Formats: sequence, C-alpha cells, structure tokens
Amino acid sequence: MNPYSRHSIARTTVLPILLALITMLFINSCDKAGYEPANISGVIWGTTYTITYDPDECESRSAVEKAVAEALASVDSAANAFSPVSQVAVLNRAGRLVQPSPALVDILSASIRLNADTRGAFDPTVSPLVNLWGFGPDDRREQVDKEQVDSAMVLVGMDKVRFCGDSVLFERDGMRLDFGAIAKGYAVDRVAGTLRQCGSTNFIVEIGGEVRVNGVSPRGDRWNVQIDAPVADLTGSHTRLAVLAVTDVSMATSGNYRNYITGVDGRWYAHTISPFSGCPIQTDILSATVFCRDAMTADALATASMVLGLDEATAMIDRLRRSDADGVCGAVFVTRDADGRFVIHPVAIDSDRIAFLD
Ligand code: AMP
Ligand code: MG
Repeated sequence: MNPYSRHSIARTTVLPILLALITMLFINSCDKAGYEPANISGVIWGTTYTITYDPDECESRSAVEKAVAEALASVDSAANAFSPVSQVAVLNRAGRLVQPSPALVDILSASIRLNADTRGAFDPTVSPLVNLWGFGPDDRREQVDKEQVDSAMVLVGMDKVRFCGDSVLFERDGMRLDFGAIAKGYAVDRVAGTLRQCGSTNFIVEIGGEVRVNGVSPRGDRWNVQIDAPVADLTGSHTRLAVLAVTDVSMATSGNYRNYITGVDGRWYAHTISPFSGCPIQTDILSATVFCRDAMTADALATASMVLGLDEATAMIDRLRRSDADGVCGAVFVTRDADGRFVIHPVAIDSDRIAFLD
C-alpha cells in the first residue's frame, strides 16, 4: 500500500501543478484614461492562464490568440517532461539530444546562469530526486530511504550537463532535467513578447501564478496584484495577504502549501527539493514572491528562495539586486511568527515598479 497521500488541486499529465498564488484584481469600470480590456484564458500544464490587454493597441483578437497558442506550444514541446514527445522527455530518455529547439536553448542557457547565480539552489537536474519523492512524471516509490537518495544525488549537478548550443549530453546514465521551476515563467515571457509584437503596451499575462505586467491596467493606472496568504486550501481559493500596485515588471511565487505529500509519519513533504540534501525542503519561508524584469528569472529565483530559507534568500536577493544581475527588482517572503501569525518580509523592493497598497 502506498504510505503517502497526495494533496494537490488538479494534477494532470503535464508539468507538475504549480501555484496559482497571485490573483489579479481588476476593476473593469474604466475611467477616462482607461480602456475596455480583452481577455484570453485557458488551461495548460495543470493550471490556468489569463491574458488581459488593450485590444485597441493590437491586431485582431484571432491574430493575438494564434500567436499566444504558438508561443505556449513551443514551450510545451521543448520543456514539458510530462509529455513523452517533448524535447526534454527525449533527452531524459536518451541522455543526449541534437538540435535543441530555440525554446529549449533559451531555457537551458538560463538554467545554467541561474544555477550559478543561486549557488546551486535552483537546479533542474534534481529531477531524479523529484521523481523519487513522488512529484515527477514517473511512478512514485513506496518508500524513500537514504540509499536511494544517495544514488539519485550522484545524478545531480548542472556541471554534468554538456551543452554546446546545437547538442546536449548528460555525463551520467540516469540523469534527467525537470524544468517545472522555470518553464511557466519562460512561457509568460514568450507570451508577453508575442503581445509586444502584436503592438500591445498595456497588458498582464499570468500562467499559474507567474505574472508579467506592462504599462497600465484597464483603470488607467498601475496593475494591482495580490499575494495570497500561504494557507493549505486545496479548493484553490485565495486569501489576500498583501496587495501591490506594479508596472513593467514580472513576478513569480513559490510555496509548498498547495503541492505536497503527507508521509506515514504525518509530516508534509514539499515538492521543492534541496539539491544540497536531496530531500524535500524544510525551510522557514512559507511563500516566496520574486520580482524581476523577466518572469523566467523570477520563477527560478522564487524556487531557489524556498530552498535557501529566509536568511540566505534575503542575502541572495540583496546580492543580485546590488550587482544588477538577473534584472532582480525585489522579493516578498512570508514566514510565520511564534504566535502563528504571517510575517511579510519585503526585500530590496524597486519602488519605481512596485508599491505596497495595504
Ligand atoms: P516552483 O513551483 O516554480 O517553485 O517549481 C517547483 C517544481 O520545480 C517542482 O515541482 C519540481 O518539479 C521542480 N523542482 C523542485 N526542486 C527544485 C530545485 N531545487 N531546483 C529546480 N527545480 C526544482
Ligand atoms: Mg519557480
């Protein structure tokens, strides 16, 4: 009998369900400076996406829809390890791949950069451990013991991925890549790029909680976004913890309260794996929201922050913001105090783009 029970909202056959932590707050009534928005929404990778834009700036709706669908399909066919025909699935099976698609090249190059910038906390080669602990595309094991963790750890490390632009090669049999912590952010960037090409300057793109906002909202001022309280509500509802007014920025949130398993010992096992210990993380951060110029970087840094915990994640965001690396514009971490109350930790917030409303 499987000693674990899984808790997740709607696990499907695609990328692991990720978090819909951020709810956009729209007020649809327009003032003089505003506009009547157009919306495109759908379901992908076990989560939802929503795009809101000013249709007066763009080509026809059908042209926008077609371009968005093409952008999402190119990310899916490159990076969705849950699809057996994707490039990453082929690479994971064969241990090598020639002529990676432009999308896979983008994601792999960014993964190498972000693995270095997070000093190993973000590491897509944790895939064998993700599978071992029951969060990957393979069947889960009944029990996880130290020996299994040690054997999987031998397969972890971006330095064991040889990538030279037109080919990718794993140095060891059994290595795998999992882009679940970065692909949604990349998809947001691709869709945002598509909208820009269609002529749009005012839009929001949200895929499963990863967001890009540009210009102004339908009200004619900054976009309001919500950071949810990190409560384990499996119905997918959202409780407001903070509201921010934002513009020209991307944001991504990671947390473990909506995708975890409960062990026989009754403890929660998180879907974020520490590449350092090989085990599901047990850190003090309940949710990490990272703001960057691009959503792919924000996505990876939010996951890395969960791995690192409050002190190290704060130091990382400060370091990256000071050096202007990765276009980091700040972070909001949520912890709990001794009385069980949520504590919000803003870090290195770029006030030109991000303002707390309450
Ligand atoms: P996110 O929700 O963006 O934090 O991504 C979590 C997903 O990324 C997990 O479900 C795994 O598929 C994968 N993952 C887990 N731990 C890591 C890690 N340390 N580095 C990169 N990817 C990870
Ligand atoms: Mg992530």
